[in-house]
Amino acid sequence: MTLDLPTISVVTFSATTVLGLVLCFVWWQERSSPLIGWWGVAQLVMASGIAFAAAASFASSAPLSAFGQALMVFSAAIMWMAAREFEGRSLNPLLVAIWPCGFVIASAVGIAATFDQRLILASTLLAILFLMAAAEFTRREGERLVSRWPAILLLVLMGVGYLAWMPLALTMPIHETSLVYASRWMPTVVLIALLGRIALAFVVLAIVKERQEMRQRLFALTDPLTGLPNRRALFEVAEAVAAHSQEFKGAPICVMLFDLDHFKKINDTYGHRLGDRVLQLFSKTLIDELDSGSTVGRLGGEEFAAILPGTKLSTAATKAEGVRAAFARAASFIDGLPVGGTVSVGVAAHDDISCDIGALFHRADGALYAAKQAGRNRVEVIGPNEALQYEETELDSAWYGERGPLSPAQHATRRYRGSGPADAA
Ligand code: GH3
Ligand code: MG
Ligand code: MG
Repeated sequence: MTLDLPTISVVTFSATTVLGLVLCFVWWQERSSPLIGWWGVAQLVMASGIAFAAAASFASSAPLSAFGQALMVFSAAIMWMAAREFEGRSLNPLLVAIWPCGFVIASAVGIAATFDQRLILASTLLAILFLMAAAEFTRREGERLVSRWPAILLLVLMGVGYLAWMPLALTMPIHETSLVYASRWMPTVVLIALLGRIALAFVVLAIVKERQEMRQRLFALTDPLTGLPNRRALFEVAEAVAAHSQEFKGAPICVMLFDLDHFKKINDTYGHRLGDRVLQLFSKTLIDELDSGSTVGRLGGEEFAAILPGTKLSTAATKAEGVRAAFARAASFIDGLPVGGTVSVGVAAHDDISCDIGALFHRADGALYAAKQAGRNRVEVIGPNEALQYEETELDSAWYGERGPLSPAQHATRRYRGSGPADAA
């Protein structure tokens, strides 16, 4: 099978141009991910490089050929910079320009004077840039994007590929720009590079889509004011933890519910803005006081919760007391104002046999209500086998039924029998 380089050049130029235009169009539609836009621009620059290189062969022009190759290097530099930007690093046009400029200078001063020398230099620069782009995609820790891996793999393959055909250029040199069409290996290399670029474009689209979906999900699960997991996220964690309750034998799952005291009054006295700051202060206190093994979240309004898997009730009670005391200290004065913010806490643990997470929240809520009844700014604990101290109303099912936030009205309509003694088991 003989591959005809002029035809392949036309196909490669057309396919790369279309690829670039499609990527630019996708970027233009949403304008949310610069990676797609830059990748599209890089394809268009690559297509013009291919066009110049092909024209150079017809015209037998070494400067035109060098310009075409410089454009190809420029294209790879744009892809590298786009990968850098995607991973949160700054865009620096100088870092991009240095590569093609270096290539042009090397050609002009005679370091890469012959066609083969230029080919080897351009391939080396392309290989370095593709490998550097692959390295960029390995950077962002903590953000698990599965499509990062095909991107890294393809970029490494492209980088290694550009190095791998170096022996061909050395053993079967082309010598002159005009002789490139006579080369037996060049058509295969051009075709493989095109396939690599097409595959990479798909992977770039996939990686951007995956990040967008991940961020949307995170957005849907995060409370915007405090940055804590919201009610939905907290219940997802709670259910996942409950499913593994058997693994925490001897040290059960504990749930803490927090409700800021007289928060309405704080809002009324100092304004909603300061109220918001108090909520943020409380979320910070939660994070500072509870270790990373626990999950904290905002249920809504001035109500928060924490789930502590594998924690004894007595340990949870001590930690809850730590939160209460730390918050009372931190919210005593804010900006010189005597805010006097405090929190009431209810803590509950499940028994060893099974873990009904809805019932556990319900029991913690009972303990919280006991803390309110006992005068606020305190922690109440309910043991696994201890009876709830208040009568259920249909409204209590909100914790584990439809999971809407418990409104102040719901709290107010609870009929409570009184505050029972807490068991810090
Ligand atoms: P208690 O000690 O019995 O819990 O009394 P409370 O005043 O804290 O409880 P109540 O349920 O009467 O009031 C809660 C208030 O929280 C009412 C609501 O305006 C306020 N609130 C809810 N969400 C926010 C918020 O995001 N920001 C601010 N600043 N206030 C909020
Ligand atoms: Mg409340
Ligand atoms: Mg309150």
